[in-house]
Amino acid sequence: MDRLDVLSVVSEIFPLVKTGGLADVAGALPFALAPLGVRVRTLIPGYPPVLAAIEKASVARALPDWYGGPARLLRTTIAGLELYVLDAPHLYNRAGGPYVGPDGRDFPDNAKRFAALCRMGASIGQGLAPRYRPQVIHTHDWQAGLTAAFLHFDGGPRPPVVATIHNLAFQGQFGRELLASLGLPPKAFSPDGVEYYGDIGFLKAAVRLADRVTTVSPTYAAEICTAEGGMGLQGLLRGRSDKLVGILNGIDTAVWDPAADPLIAQPFGPDSLAARPANKTFLQARFDLTPDPDAPLFGVVSRLSWQKGLDLLLEALPTLLQEGGQLALLGSGDAAMEAGFAWAAEAHPGRVGCVFSYDEALAHEIQAGSDCIVVPSRFEPCGLTQLCALRYGAVPLVARVGGLADTVIDATPMALASGAATGVQFAPVALPMLERAIRRTAALYRDKPAWRRMQANGMAADVSWNDPARLYAALFAELAGR
Ligand code: ADP
Repeated sequence: MDRLDVLSVVSEIFPLVKTGGLADVAGALPFALAPLGVRVRTLIPGYPPVLAAIEKASVARALPDWYGGPARLLRTTIAGLELYVLDAPHLYNRAGGPYVGPDGRDFPDNAKRFAALCRMGASIGQGLAPRYRPQVIHTHDWQAGLTAAFLHFDGGPRPPVVATIHNLAFQGQFGRELLASLGLPPKAFSPDGVEYYGDIGFLKAAVRLADRVTTVSPTYAAEICTAEGGMGLQGLLRGRSDKLVGILNGIDTAVWDPAADPLIAQPFGPDSLAARPANKTFLQARFDLTPDPDAPLFGVVSRLSWQKGLDLLLEALPTLLQEGGQLALLGSGDAAMEAGFAWAAEAHPGRVGCVFSYDEALAHEIQAGSDCIVVPSRFEPCGLTQLCALRYGAVPLVARVGGLADTVIDATPMALASGAATGVQFAPVALPMLERAIRRTAALYRDKPAWRRMQANGMAADVSWNDPARLYAALFAELAGR
């Protein structure tokens, strides 16, 4: 089998920089694709944690002036990932996260920071890096969105581009006066280029100019073509629907393996579910909850934002408590939501516990110890927490949107009778439906054989990258003319 070279262009990658599921995907796909004959190199910005993790690098290119300062393109391998790092201190070497400064606000020059990344992605596609010619370029989200635009407006031979939308809510929209400073020619500012409602749209450019557009679940692919889910891009997406496909994300089943997870109190597997309750005991102690083995323990691991619908869970808390439930929440984000959950924990000692931080280890403990993982998202491109939950025997209670709709089989009477159910879904995303779903979940929990069956079904589901990687590999091969 001939090797196929793919350049991935992305603004975050696990385990180096992560703000969300995007990093997980960027960090996992190269390993999932390697056995299928696809070699992925990834171009990322040289943020401080990336530079700090480099042990050995070669300079692929010295760049005396790259968007206003000297820069270097480095070639290195970190944690098994083959990387190109755009080391441009004036753009990336600063305190804060990848997009946001220490003051919590977006960096004012984000348009330039990510245009510089895209320009580099396009240039590598045109042969800027010695001895490397990718056959396909795979861009992720708005931050990499201009890559397709640079290649298009440069003209000349170029590799095909696959643009993946991980979340349509972030589109990278900036004032038109920036056009020249981003390195784009005047002709790029047209509806068939980067123009987006009078501004420059990074993600818009990708949707318009990439050879294929993918998103991270089939249901989300359909939702974003509608007025309700399209966030302004629905017309364009509908027009390109023959080039749009939904491919589910997977999770790293080595990192998320309840049978060999060093981060949980007591490992367990589908054949040793009797060992699982030790994790519930641990979790109840960790969150100052009453040590009650029979109380249905609802867990949350999430960013706290409007998208995630956790304000509804806060409102539904009386129902959860009426059903004898407990809540263990790990999350960070929206200050008002944090305050709401902190107040609830104070009002219901022993019943509600919260940790407001980002904590990878605690996320594993919640998956292992909760009876149910709640994901009431208003929209959810794919969602990873419910995939972890399936694997850890924590029955997911989810909104029937996006990837949540595609990955959880609702416990309808038919699905229960046929033994297919893996969780509970509700729709539309509104308080009465969530309350009803909580009651339904609690009733199922009391029906021990039904509950155990759902746990077993979930744990048997394939949530790995195997199937998704095959779909990506086929798409890349088709575009490369294989
Ligand atoms: P999104 O990318 O929209 O935040 P996903 O479900 O796709 O949502 O991915 C979120 C990832 O981040 C999951 O791997 C989840 O476990 C993890 N995560 C979210 N919040 C936290 C947190 N507070 N602590 C630890 N892990 C978290």
